Amino acid sequence: MAVEPTGFDDRARWERVRARLRAEIGETQYRSWVRQLGFEGLTDGVVTLTVASRFVRDWIVSRYVDRLRALWALEDASVRAVTVDVVAPEVAMAQTADDDETAPADGAQTGVAPLASALRNASAPLDVRYTFANFVVGKPNEFAHAAARRVADSAEVKFNPLYLYGGVGLGKTHLMHAIAWHIREHIPERRVIYLSAEAFMYQFVRALRFKDTMAFKELFRSVDVLLIDDVQFISGKESTQEEFFHTFNALVDQNRQIVISADRQPKDLDRVEERLRSRLGWGLVADLHPTDYELRLGIVLARHEALAPHLPVPHRVLEFLAHRITGNVRELEGALIRIVAHANFVGRPVTLDSTQELLRDLLRANDRHVTIEEIQRRVAEHYNMRLADMTSDRRARAVARPRQVAMFLSKSLTQRSLPDIGRKFGGRDHTTVMHAVRKIEELRQSDSSFAEDVELLRRMLEG
Ligand code: ADP
Ligand code: MG
Repeated sequence: MAVEPTGFDDRARWERVRARLRAEIGETQYRSWVRQLGFEGLTDGVVTLTVASRFVRDWIVSRYVDRLRALWALEDASVRAVTVDVVAPEVAMAQTADDDETAPADGAQTGVAPLASALRNASAPLDVRYTFANFVVGKPNEFAHAAARRVADSAEVKFNPLYLYGGVGLGKTHLMHAIAWHIREHIPERRVIYLSAEAFMYQFVRALRFKDTMAFKELFRSVDVLLIDDVQFISGKESTQEEFFHTFNALVDQNRQIVISADRQPKDLDRVEERLRSRLGWGLVADLHPTDYELRLGIVLARHEALAPHLPVPHRVLEFLAHRITGNVRELEGALIRIVAHANFVGRPVTLDSTQELLRDLLRANDRHVTIEEIQRRVAEHYNMRLADMTSDRRARAVARPRQVAMFLSKSLTQRSLPDIGRKFGGRDHTTVMHAVRKIEELRQSDSSFAEDVELLRRMLEG
């Protein structure tokens, strides 16, 4: 060994150097890179540091090594150079995943393998509330939920990747964290990484820049389950995507479970190259539909129970929230938190009136401004029929069915009553509207392509 056993003083110096660099570059950069460095020793004016992968080494050398040397020189004027060595990564991974937020020690000192710490740094922290136990299952999300459970429960890879998609705030991230938590609890020897597609690409582009995709693959190869959130943000040059595609395939070949989320289906990932796009759809694709009233009510009930079980909130108020705050589950939760906090502060019971008063802005934002006329126009366009036939007496299927769709959408997207809607459709009776709503609901159950069609229209009208 060229390096002498480390003196106590040198180690103390190293701690000071690290602390200074940390203050200079900020917490994020520090955690992502510098924290992974181990201190090997100081000999003949050369400081030797270690790290687990070539790609991290190159990154640190290109960005920080000059600063490290300057900071060392402040401690010890004899220091001429700082070198960073790659040490063979140990594959064993510490199981205590989130314990090191404040720990100043590095891998070498705590016995945590450097690769393990690189992995932990790669994985974003998990939200403790995002568990399966806290996930309310309803019609709109039951399929995605079942698929997520399946992945979490089975040690074998059944479908790869699992691709979850749906609009903002419908629970994609929640389900991904739930998978990660579940595995950590039940099969702790499986190694799980969760990160955003942006973070994943960031690491990947760095690896490419240093012509070190091997290190990247190596870093991710020791993972059993890789969860990548929000892949709609993946973009970039074709060559980058090409490499990403190969890495992705390599992981699949090695039987690593991959779980992907996005706000749209694979085929609509317009910034993603065709081959990768289609590859992403090869496993199981499961979507989270917009919430329905039952699901929203279930969620508010559960949140109330978790948040403030002893604070009485009238059921009517909870129903009111589920009815009126329809867009995003996060908003629904936010509304409940506001009500509970307010009741706590002012010490007055929650009522429907106080709720409406308190949430005025939010409610206004959630009021849909879609009009029945607009719905009729869009639906007519979509089915390629004359707008006039929305209100005419013609009963041919090609006309009657779209009209029913428009009635159904009017019922679900506006606050108008059945008789109101009937009037707008050529003075039809409210029972006709009711029948239309039921008919369309039936068809949505029995015919999935029809259901998608209606869903598409709804999203267009809402967006
Ligand atoms: P997405 O990633 O799809 O945008 P999130 O997973 O971040 O949405 O969910 C937004 C918020 O709504 C989170 O606080 C999440 O816990 C909550 N949420 C969404 N769906 C459900 C559900 N079915 N049950 C309980 N909470 C939910
Ligand atoms: Mg999300």
